[in-house]
Amino acid sequence: MKETIFQMERYAEANNIPIIEIDSIKFIMKYIKLNDVKSVLEIGTAIGYSAILMANATPDVEITTIEKDEKRYKEAVKNVNSCELDKRIEVVYNDALKVNLAGHSYDLIFIDAAKGGYIKYFEKFCNYLNPGGVIITDNINFHGLVKNKSSIKSKNIQGIVDKIEKYKAFLDSNPDYITKYYDIGDGLSVSFKKNDEK
Ligand code: SAM
Repeated sequence: MKETIFQMERYAEANNIPIIEIDSIKFIMKYIKLNDVKSVLEIGTAIGYSAILMANATPDVEITTIEKDEKRYKEAVKNVNSCELDKRIEVVYNDALKVNLAGHSYDLIFIDAAKGGYIKYFEKFCNYLNPGGVIITDNINFHGLVKNKSSIKSKNIQGIVDKIEKYKAFLDSNPDYITKYYDIGDGLSVSFKKNDEK
């Protein structure tokens, strides 16, 4: 298991695949453990790094994770199998916005896919959240640039930062959720459904 995780880190670096920062995944693993999370939905698998680590938080948490890139999906399945976690991690190959999850619900939803889609993912997947559940989103600080916009030179990066700001405004004005922000890793938001706040 440790060897596979180490190999995934090297593979991600060599192939320019963004994976979660270690402090952020530690925070999520701790949340899973302390809150007895049994089911997780992850949007954005990449090669399965965060899914495998989340599955390691407790022996009974089950993960469904969605990836739309075929090569990454196949790599994720390979990694999940080599960690013998295929009974607790289901990797779905599809665009998250096209997946039908009718009949399923989750204690924790982790959004870690295209930043331009954050609002759409939240709007779609909040319908599958169990009472007392949370929605966690990664990259809320986007390399510190959300708080330091004047240093941005590229239009492309400016566009991403604008989208993250819109997402934060969406979260803050969402009447059904209370969102807390954490300067951990690349920045995490944790959205609790109102009346469900812990
Ligand atoms: N959670 C992973 C980890 O920490 O190991 C990293 C995920 S990476 C930041 C984002 C992934 O989301 C990419 O592999 C990308 O192909 C995938 N993605 C982007 N938009 C998507 C969508 N609409 N549906 C499914 N996957 C998507």
